[in-house]
Amino acid sequence: MNLHEYQGKELLASYGVPIQRGKLALTVDEAVQAYKDLKEETGTDFCVAKAQIHAGGRGKGGGVKLCKNMDELKETAGNILGMMLKTPQTPGGLEGPGKLVRKILITEDSYAPDFDACTEFYMSVMMDRTNKSNVIIYSTEGGMDIEAVAEETPHLVHKEYIDPSLGLQGFQLRKIAFNLGLSGDAFKNMTKFVSKLYAAFVGSDASLFEINPVLKTADDRIIAVDSKVSIDDNSLFRHKELAAMRDEDEEDPAEVEAKGYGLSYVKLDGNVGCMVNGAGLAMATMDIIKLSGGSPANFLDVGGTADAERVEQAFRIILRDPNVKAILINIFGGIVRCDRVANGVVEAFKNMGNIQVPIIVRLQGTNADIAKKIIDESGLSVKSAIVLKEAANLVSEVLA
Ligand code: GDP
Ligand code: MN
Repeated sequence: MNLHEYQGKELLASYGVPIQRGKLALTVDEAVQAYKDLKEETGTDFCVAKAQIHAGGRGKGGGVKLCKNMDELKETAGNILGMMLKTPQTPGGLEGPGKLVRKILITEDSYAPDFDACTEFYMSVMMDRTNKSNVIIYSTEGGMDIEAVAEETPHLVHKEYIDPSLGLQGFQLRKIAFNLGLSGDAFKNMTKFVSKLYAAFVGSDASLFEINPVLKTADDRIIAVDSKVSIDDNSLFRHKELAAMRDEDEEDPAEVEAKGYGLSYVKLDGNVGCMVNGAGLAMATMDIIKLSGGSPANFLDVGGTADAERVEQAFRIILRDPNVKAILINIFGGIVRCDRVANGVVEAFKNMGNIQVPIIVRLQGTNADIAKKIIDESGLSVKSAIVLKEAANLVSEVLA
């Protein structure tokens, strides 16, 4: 589950990580009030208006703006709230429709009073499965596109591996601060910053922290100016306060609906919808769709009980996607018998009425032959197969 920047910063602050101070606003009036409150706390006129959407690169898309006074802030907040913000990371990129901005974060200008005395760093924390460790990735080249830095100047991107059973050691903190070229107070503050950041990462069961930029201010404080935080969904049961931060407005509606039914569904950008039981089989099915010239529109695991109700829920979710040109149902009947699944498919198909896209059903396992008969004799425009290759060929036929 992804958090908004303001939520990620709240999480960081609760672990004592210094952050750029800010206040959230949903309307222009609230933004003006936030500005007044911040000005009272910080004593400065400048502030930054930051669109809150689940995508990075907002600066490039016009979603992060420095404002020099209240009038400028008022106008900017009016422009940003309600805009369709396009960034390289919103669906479809800069050519796509963008994402609606519903919330705005008004922050202090952390680069004041001396912009040139500030330094932007890059820092992220994540799990490294290959090394069975956590890793802190960091660079002196912060603020900008880290992918480009990694591509063009890979020697400027450092990695520090942390054995989760030992934790982050003092010498590692000092190495990071040293590699970032710091000394004096800034050096000390960086070691504190990284230590708390890592504690926050572990404590919140996060799968990703990306802080870009981490800022060294003119007076040598180290603060998080941005935050991208992903929490491991499987840990949310023990983080009620984080689970409550879920913003369904930012999520794909089909994925939200699927979660409600307890289906594992991930939307992809292909044209063949898949309904499969078992995650491994779902992945194999996506591969075979690729091999037969199609491209999967989703990953969907209906789980062990592929009864009519579940099949119908899965149909509804797959059909929400206008790109779907065919649906491949691939069920292995082990515990659940194929004839029961076949009856479920026929029943769901009748209940739904008016399904226009061609459907190919491949049932293998217990009573597969009876199941094929049920489908073939149902009078519905559903094609059936027992062998997966055959099913894949049917998919390419209907796509052709
Ligand atoms: P992103 O574009 O979505 O990654 O959003 P960021 O929060 O990282 O902001 C984008 C850029 O705006 C940063 O890289 C900074 O250069 C700039 N920025 C952010 N906060 C401030 C601030 O307080 N003062 C100034 N002058 N610039 C800021
Ligand atoms: Mn950023």
